[in-house]
Amino acid sequence: MAIQLTGMAGGKVDLPPEGFQAFRGAFSGALLVPGDEGYEDTRRIWNGMIDRRPGLIARCAGTADVAQAVRLARRHGLLVSVRGGGHNIAGLAVCEGGLMIDLSTMRGVWVDPGARLARAQAGCTLGDLDRETQAHGLATVLGFVSATGIAGLTVGGGFGYLTRRHGWTCDNVVSMEVVTADGEIRQVSAGSHADLFWALRGGGGNFGIVTSFEYRLFPVGPEILGGALAWRGEDARQVLEAYRAVSAAAPRELTCVAALRTAPPAPWLPKEQHGKPVALIFVCHTGSIEEGEALLAPLRRTGSPIADTVTRRPYTQMQSLLDATQPKGRRYYWKSHYLPGISPELIEIGVAHLGRMVSPHSAFFLFHLAGALNELPADHSPAGNRDAAYVLNIASAWERPEDDAGNIRWARDCFEASRPCSTGGAYVNFLTEEEGADRIEAAYGRSTLDQLAAIKRAYDPDDLFRHTKRISV
Ligand SMILES: Cc1cc2nc3c(=O)[nH]c(=O)nc-3n(C[C@H](O)[C@H](O)[C@H](O)COP(=O)(O)OP(=O)(O)OC[C@H]3O[C@@H](n4cnc5c(N)ncnc54)[C@H](O)[C@@H]3O)c2cc1C
Repeated sequence: MAIQLTGMAGGKVDLPPEGFQAFRGAFSGALLVPGDEGYEDTRRIWNGMIDRRPGLIARCAGTADVAQAVRLARRHGLLVSVRGGGHNIAGLAVCEGGLMIDLSTMRGVWVDPGARLARAQAGCTLGDLDRETQAHGLATVLGFVSATGIAGLTVGGGFGYLTRRHGWTCDNVVSMEVVTADGEIRQVSAGSHADLFWALRGGGGNFGIVTSFEYRLFPVGPEILGGALAWRGEDARQVLEAYRAVSAAAPRELTCVAALRTAPPAPWLPKEQHGKPVALIFVCHTGSIEEGEALLAPLRRTGSPIADTVTRRPYTQMQSLLDATQPKGRRYYWKSHYLPGISPELIEIGVAHLGRMVSPHSAFFLFHLAGALNELPADHSPAGNRDAAYVLNIASAWERPEDDAGNIRWARDCFEASRPCSTGGAYVNFLTEEEGADRIEAAYGRSTLDQLAAIKRAYDPDDLFRHTKRISV
């Protein structure tokens, strides 16, 4: 079979039948072309706004398949994208017409409880890794929604309920296995290819394809104190003020996430509040249950909460509490800032934009980060942003294409209004499709970008891995 694919320069490239047959013979996973069973579901990712069609999807069964796919792309100059969990808001996982190297069936996890280390294949979701590590009462720093991929999250930085204690996810990577643009399989760590190891801890997918990550683990749970508190939208100002006070004084075992949104029809929220504005605070306390209860008392005394689900629960349950609010296939558009703190101005902006939300699925999120990440040197990893105390995620979500403009405008307006409250930094994993060079520079800073560009020239001089938040060679 002859296949025509998009090349790196944008033109069409013919894969000769004998070349494709040789590749097929050496590849052990599935190869999908448009029309094949599984093709549509694989090209469709979390963000329903992304509608691109790769010419060929290589569903890799293991590292050897990834190396074969990279060699094919290099030999024929193909446009390549890499899919981990398919959750990147900008849709980086899916290229138009080119070769999608799909790792999402590579989901093995091996835990060494004695050494407090876990090795996870790059197609794992956060839920896959948490499940296996929690079987030993251990965990590493991962994000808030369990279907997210570990790969994209880790190579872009990564934060979650354990960030205050242990830093970015990428700060806790000990080693990786990587297929570089020359098709070689390399073991990288602080002692081997230290430059590549550094770049892949926050610099995104620009330097190679990670096939597995080795993470440092910490004792967590397996039961923690966690859940959500809810108030009516009218109380949003008072709730955000309490959020600021409680989070700023909290020990690192306590992480609070605030969300202003429309109440979903969830059974834990009173029926009469469904469809009306609410202020929510999600809490996760990984220290003693008693200390957690005492720390939360001021929040519970704030105004008149309409719901309180905070209780002793499994950490893995906490890690999937937000899942239902983030289904695959909805239309999503985000804007974000790192914040040095929660200012009175930011609280006013949140309250005002709660009143102007266009869609019942959208939210104004504040995630608390301050702690361990601020203590490492600025250049410890490219994830950097070690002055960040919170991240603001202005998350628009809606169903119908005809509602795109209004929902995108809401997020952009809120982003512009909150710009003066920002550190000036940006989280590369939250950048949308149209956010380019200036926002990539905001994510890294000039001097880190220059270092990343030098490493890119050394490992990927032809820019094979360009379907990324791009570091120019
Ligand atoms: C609902 C939701 C919740 C989120 N919550 C959090 C959160 O709590 N904390 C947080 O930090 N982030 C969070 N994010 C952002 C998340 O970190 C990014 O979306 C990330 O890109 C997801 O990784 P993925 O593997 O699913 O992405 P994919 O879309 O599969 O991949 C994105 C890009 O990452 C790179 N990449 C993927 N796999 C590899 C690999 N194996 N080797 C090298 N590069 C690779 C490639 O450039 C790829 O195109 C969330 C995103 C969503 C949609």
